[in-house]
Amino acid sequence: MQPSHPKILIIGAGPTGLGAAHRLQQLGHDDWMLFEQSGEAGGLARSVTDEHGFTWDIGGHVQFSHYKRFDNLMDAALGPDGWLHHERESWVRILGVWAPYPFQNNIHRLPETERQRCIEGLRRAAQRCAPQDGYANFGELIDDCFGEGVAALFMRPYNFKVWAYPPEQLGVNWLGERVAHPELEKIERSLQTGEDNVSWGPNNTFRFPRHGGTGAVWRAVAQGLPQEKLRFNCPVAGIDADKKIVRLENGEEHPYDWLISSMPLDLLIEKARLESLAPHAARLRCSAVHITGIALKGQPGPQVNGKCWMYFPESNCPFYRVTVFSNYSPNNVPDIERYWSLMTEVSESPAKSVDVARVEEDVIQGALNAGLIESRDQVHHTWSIRVGHGYPTPTLGRDEALNELLPALEHRGILSRGRFGAWRYEVSNQDHCMMQGVEAVHRILYGTPELTVWFPNIVNNPHPAFSRDWI
Ligand SMILES: Cc1cc2nc3c(=O)[nH]c(=O)nc-3n(C[C@H](O)[C@H](O)[C@H](O)COP(=O)(O)OP(=O)(O)OC[C@H]3O[C@@H](n4cnc5c(N)ncnc54)[C@H](O)[C@@H]3O)c2cc1C
Repeated sequence: MQPSHPKILIIGAGPTGLGAAHRLQQLGHDDWMLFEQSGEAGGLARSVTDEHGFTWDIGGHVQFSHYKRFDNLMDAALGPDGWLHHERESWVRILGVWAPYPFQNNIHRLPETERQRCIEGLRRAAQRCAPQDGYANFGELIDDCFGEGVAALFMRPYNFKVWAYPPEQLGVNWLGERVAHPELEKIERSLQTGEDNVSWGPNNTFRFPRHGGTGAVWRAVAQGLPQEKLRFNCPVAGIDADKKIVRLENGEEHPYDWLISSMPLDLLIEKARLESLAPHAARLRCSAVHITGIALKGQPGPQVNGKCWMYFPESNCPFYRVTVFSNYSPNNVPDIERYWSLMTEVSESPAKSVDVARVEEDVIQGALNAGLIESRDQVHHTWSIRVGHGYPTPTLGRDEALNELLPALEHRGILSRGRFGAWRYEVSNQDHCMMQGVEAVHRILYGTPELTVWFPNIVNNPHPAFSRDWI
């Protein structure tokens, strides 16, 4: 039977864990405690300021929001003056030209031969693309819906670079709003007029913390909570799921009625020694990500000036995405008159190896090849981190595994939620994760069904009948 005032333990001080803790506090439920293995808040959404005074995120973070509650938390965390606002200017570097993202809507920027190849493929694809009939895998969908040219030039190479698995190993039900389907009419029009189909504009802005990188948000959220309930530098070493006890590395034991865990699901199953669930956890796949920050002297050249982030499908550089991080906030560098910065992301998996010893050198050479920098002399220093759990891969078979794992854990009083807790890429941004924490609390205290983890398509594409404020 559910106790009237359950003792709730939380693992992880990322957006999921802090979202849960913040909501518990708001609701006046004070019987909770949070354990975080590292010394700081933020998880993958933390930021680091290096010894030279350059601030870096763990990859380019932008605050997307599907929820009023997330907006409110952001407002309260840093206050109205704590934010800078930008237009989302994202570009694709291909064949020596820049095309606005999404690439498929801007093929008029390509050289004549490739432009022709792409439009012919897109016209044929418009006849046969039928997502409603279901595709067996992402590779099939790419070929059928984007056509031969766009598939060969962008969709296949870019998606392998970002996911680090062949698209044939990925499912399609994660796609939702994540991949823009080609709009043939618009594309034909832009081929005639030469006008860009840009995804930015007055209604397409994002905000970024004025100081301290993305991590400033989560540090502020953590600071607003009772400090005695937040236990940093406290790795969870084991979980006795039968007796409902969390064991810390320092030997302490803490009983719980409910556990909200945001540690990676595969590690949770290991730590809880739930052998019957291990075969399902073994079916989950993820990719690692190497973040290399390039601290640069001088000013950005015309190629990158004003751009937010850029996608790189080609093999002349190892990164799939680069953020002009000094454009997000001048305070991301020690002196904006003298320095600027790029943040690069390189993926790795068993299907795509990375030579760790060479990654910084390869990234600099890639920045030269892609025209992001002109000379090595511009480089002041580099900063790097490898994150083992970077992207939860939406492989074929993922949902079958999750449908075994998550309910079985819930049955034992464990809600495994968040980017790697629930392993659903389509609901793994900061807003989704923070709300998975909130909804887990509502589930425990009131029995309210959780929306985000179980119905990604609803939260990502709310029906017009529902106000966004409702979620
Ligand atoms: C390259 C990259 C780019 C991204 N870009 C964006 C973006 O543009 N916009 C956006 O909104 N989101 C973005 N994200 C996603 C964002 O970082 C995540 O949504 C968010 O950090 C996930 O929150 P979480 O709390 O679920 O997990 P995490 O942030 O991973 O937090 C989990 C916490 O659990 C702790 N933990 C793990 N094991 C233990 C243990 N045994 N004991 C105690 N503590 C433990 C970890 O130290 C960590 O702090 C990006 C992520 C990456 C990797």
